[in-house]
Amino acid sequence: MLYPKKCPVCENVLPDIPGREGRNICLKCNEKLHYIGALHCLKCGKQIYSANEEYCSDCKNKKHLFRQGVGVFSYDENIKYAMYRFKYSNRREYASFFGESIASRHGHFIRRWKPQVIIPVPMYRFKYYQRGYNQAGLVADVLGKELGIPVEHKLLIRSRQTRAMKELNEEERMKNLQNAFKITTNIVKYKKILLVDDIYTTGSTMDACSEVLLEGGAEEIYCASVCIGNGF
Ligand SMILES: [Zn+2]
Ligand SMILES: [Zn+2]
Repeated sequence: MLYPKKCPVCENVLPDIPGREGRNICLKCNEKLHYIGALHCLKCGKQIYSANEEYCSDCKNKKHLFRQGVGVFSYDENIKYAMYRFKYSNRREYASFFGESIASRHGHFIRRWKPQVIIPVPMYRFKYYQRGYNQAGLVADVLGKELGIPVEHKLLIRSRQTRAMKELNEEERMKNLQNAFKITTNIVKYKKILLVDDIYTTGSTMDACSEVLLEGGAEEIYCASVCIGNGF
């Protein structure tokens, strides 16, 4: 390691304590993070707040193309800056913490789905060359290693530049993603696919990716994200 390992939340250097090599976050910062609990939407994985509900308000009103999804952290103030640095400030090393968190929190779920392959939500090629990495791809690599599932980085591509989703409403999001993804080769051998992304908000990106994979012959698409928006 060229650089000392830093906590993704507070950015302090993590103490190199023997026996704690696998630790990728301060205990204190970890306590601040909002892990999605057992009460989550049975479709997308968002936290829900009533034991009487099975689905979040999003999923009650909309049909998703993926079968089911999970997310580890509620996307709030405590993790927002960590995600920002992971995406824009070259903090590639955070991928270990994020990928391992998906595996430890939701590995049992994912194993039950039996995905044959993991595919990260792709970036547009030009943007990838600028940034030098795809954060979703880094998380997918860690998760694949943890669960022993192969990862395919080149099978699904983003074939054109899309606008940042955060400033768009639902309708604009869908339009923005129309024909944005393509498969590069025959994927008939993969019937069950797990998509991986850093942040899940409305699911429109996962749906757009699912659509082309299903058209290409896949039968069941699942998704896993590091962060996920609020359900209600
Ligand atoms: Zn910390
Ligand atoms: Zn949902």
